[in-house]
Amino acid sequence: MSLFDKFKQFQDLKQQFDGMLPFGAVTEEILSPTQAIVNGQNVILAGTNNYLGLTFDPEAVAAAQDAVAENGTGTTGSRMANGTFAEHIKLEQELAEFFGTRSAIVFSTGYAATMGTSATLAGPGDVILLDADSHASIYDGVRLSGADIIRFRHNDPADLEKRLRRLKDREGDTLIIVEGIYSMLGDVAPLAEIAAIKRDYNAYLLVDEAHSMGVMGDKGRGAAEAAGIEADADFLVGTFSKSLGSIGGYCVSNHAELELIRFATRSYIFTASASPSVIASTRTTLRLMQERPELQRQLWKNAQRLYAELKNLGFEVGPQASPVVAVRTDDADKAAQWWQELFALGIFVNLVIPPASPAEFCLLRCSVSAAHSEAEIQDIIAAYATLTQ
Ligand code: PMP
Repeated sequence: MSLFDKFKQFQDLKQQFDGMLPFGAVTEEILSPTQAIVNGQNVILAGTNNYLGLTFDPEAVAAAQDAVAENGTGTTGSRMANGTFAEHIKLEQELAEFFGTRSAIVFSTGYAATMGTSATLAGPGDVILLDADSHASIYDGVRLSGADIIRFRHNDPADLEKRLRRLKDREGDTLIIVEGIYSMLGDVAPLAEIAAIKRDYNAYLLVDEAHSMGVMGDKGRGAAEAAGIEADADFLVGTFSKSLGSIGGYCVSNHAELELIRFATRSYIFTASASPSVIASTRTTLRLMQERPELQRQLWKNAQRLYAELKNLGFEVGPQASPVVAVRTDDADKAAQWWQELFALGIFVNLVIPPASPAEFCLLRCSVSAAHSEAEIQDIIAAYATLTQ
């Protein structure tokens, strides 16, 4: 027995894929939101989560550059101690305005936002019901909460309700945690049904909109907006690292107590706040996202085309079209082989293997961008068409 025995599974995995891409892939130069040089090769980036393609927007780049020049490279401290800059507060005000909520908290990463709120909102004596396919940040958070944790079947409101019914006479509060668009298969949570159940059982609802903010809803506020259930979502959390092209996270809520939750959330208190340049570019892309609704339309056009074409080619794709387009196989060697063949053809996708993927399957996962040209989408489709299924 040794401390290191539990890491042996990773040694085995490392050996299986030793020297193989994508684990040794190094992005040497980013040419645009959709193209880069990786290990000496020009590739189309097809797995970046850069949904609106704003990472090179001249206004966002200029705002980040100005902020570095004015306020330096980092805040060098936690917001509670010495790291709340005026810009952090402005971004919080802009987020609250955008979501139409009473207040907002900005975190240093999306992980810190989701993990921190999942850990803090419910506590000992409470129950958290979470979708079984929840992101690792949610699982990590609820483990720290001290609440009783119950998983319900992925995207299955009937199973959620069954489990709530069993809790009928229990004391304590109930928090339901779901995502908007799920990051692995790109399927959307049935939020209208979940919100109705939440009302019936007098529970609280937290929705992680990491993959749906900027992607769904007329105003880009996410899956809760698209489902018309924002009033039922007690807490919306999300990230700046996808549609907004930077790094950081948020939690917005209409509950006045959100301002107190700030003082209890350890992933907010005990970490340095986001750099001024990050906040400046995020403020800019939040505005650009609202000014350019055509980006969301282009994103869905690209997503629908890629999803339909990969499905037509006979690949096993997720249950519905969305900007996350994942091809599934149960064979890890085949998935790795496919990844290499796509890379050789200049297409960089995400290879997801257990334990990162839900259940025991592997995924070749694309995330589509509004910035992908028609020709780039065609190149991605053409590359998939060469794979032997
Ligand atoms: N929640 C979900 C659903 C995610 O997919 C992610 C990132 N993949 C996060 C939270 C964490 O966000 P970040 O990577 O920006 O820290």
